[in-house]
Amino acid sequence: MLNNTIAAISTSLSASGIGIIRISGEDAINVGDKIFVSKKNRKLVDQKTHTIHYGNIVDPKNNQIIDEVLVSVMKEPNTYTKENIIEINCHGGVIVMQKILHLVLENGARLAEPGEFTKRAFLNGRMDLSSAEAVIDIINAKTNLSLESSVSQLKGNIYREIKSIRSKLLELIAHIEASIDYPEYDYDELSEDLVKNNLGTIKKRIEKLLNSVDDGKIIREGIKTVIVGKPNVGKSSLMNALLNEDRAIVTDVAGTTRDVLEEYMNIKGVPLRIVDTAGIRKTEDIVEKIGVNKSKELVEKADLIIMIIDASTELTEEDQYIFNLIKDKKTIILLNKIDLPVKITEELVNKEVENTKVISTSLINRKGLDDIEKAIKDMFLIGDIDFNDNLYITNVRHKLSLENAIDSLDAVNNSIEVGMPEDCWSIDIKNSYDYLGEITGDSVNEDIISQIFSQFCLGK
Ligand code: GDP
Ligand code: ZN
Repeated sequence: MLNNTIAAISTSLSASGIGIIRISGEDAINVGDKIFVSKKNRKLVDQKTHTIHYGNIVDPKNNQIIDEVLVSVMKEPNTYTKENIIEINCHGGVIVMQKILHLVLENGARLAEPGEFTKRAFLNGRMDLSSAEAVIDIINAKTNLSLESSVSQLKGNIYREIKSIRSKLLELIAHIEASIDYPEYDYDELSEDLVKNNLGTIKKRIEKLLNSVDDGKIIREGIKTVIVGKPNVGKSSLMNALLNEDRAIVTDVAGTTRDVLEEYMNIKGVPLRIVDTAGIRKTEDIVEKIGVNKSKELVEKADLIIMIIDASTELTEEDQYIFNLIKDKKTIILLNKIDLPVKITEELVNKEVENTKVISTSLINRKGLDDIEKAIKDMFLIGDIDFNDNLYITNVRHKLSLENAIDSLDAVNNSIEVGMPEDCWSIDIKNSYDYLGEITGDSVNEDIISQIFSQFCLGK
């Protein structure tokens, strides 16, 4: 299968400045020569690696010129896939790109599956599996911070840490095996305490990676922020003010925001995924009811709640209901509409909910926005999440493998406790070693590999 030569359009399919058709495999350069006529009439096979050539794509069936192009020749092994690669840079029109791709497919290549270029890079040993997955994340990255984390994963930070943990496990296995095979081997060296201590240290390192999962999720998906408040307090206005554009519909009619709106934004370096909900209140309107239930669900799952109160009216039962709903969450409370005569003070709110940041705002005048952004920054950037530590596990598959690796280590400890023989210990240590290997791709089966690469988009 690896001998097949594959091709795909590597750039966005929408009209853009240039388009790239990428061909990889044994025959890539020959395929290029069948359809490319260089201005200097030279064959691509005769060219040096990593050179670019100017000419036309010509249909060999009728000698019709399809497009004027630049063709890059990259010869194995120093390429993305470690195979011969040709990249045809054409004018980005969709029809032109598809015509050229079609010609390429007629002349000896087959259409690449999604992610197949990167899969080949992995199978040919150019990158480990966590790096390959980082390529998916980079393609899908939604915030700058997320992009940085993926890039560092791509550079192999996680790979290096896991490799180092695995080598410790291997040492331990070797140690145990040696003591089994050579009973005269000094048994003191393999005291149970020594094994336990080593396992303890290793477990801590795996746990540290595991603990980064939630932070990793926050970085990749943004801090899940939900704006709550009864109808008409200014939720959509906040959303708009933060976005600085009029995406959400602002109206005077209570309960107009029926659909949940979601936006990604970057607040002073903190990635937020922010949701505006239908007003939470008791309602007979069925559409609104659905929105209200959804809000409750969203509140439960949120990392951060921004509750808005209308300062120009008295607190109501609905406000009390919301206070109750959010009492265990990380919350910022906005006292909005302070441009109007004020009936509620920060002191009063603080009596209702202790230890919660309260900010007075007048959102229609964009007043208080800076304080909101600063509060978010203080909460997340200076808080528990250290955004400069680059070892983030952001991937569910990695998380499962780490959990399994820890379970196996716990099993070893159990075996030691109940006095099982040493060869039982090493089986579980070996399991732990294999689970970690799933992350780097050192011990992973074909199904998992196919599943991972199917998440890629075409042409990558
Ligand atoms: P939502 O239902 O909570 O999403 O509230 P909206 O953002 O749709 O706002 C409801 C109404 O309150 C609109 O007429 C806004 O112009 C108005 N409003 C929002 N913020 C303020 C404010 O700070 N001061 C005043 N006076 N009116 C505001
Ligand atoms: Zn609204």
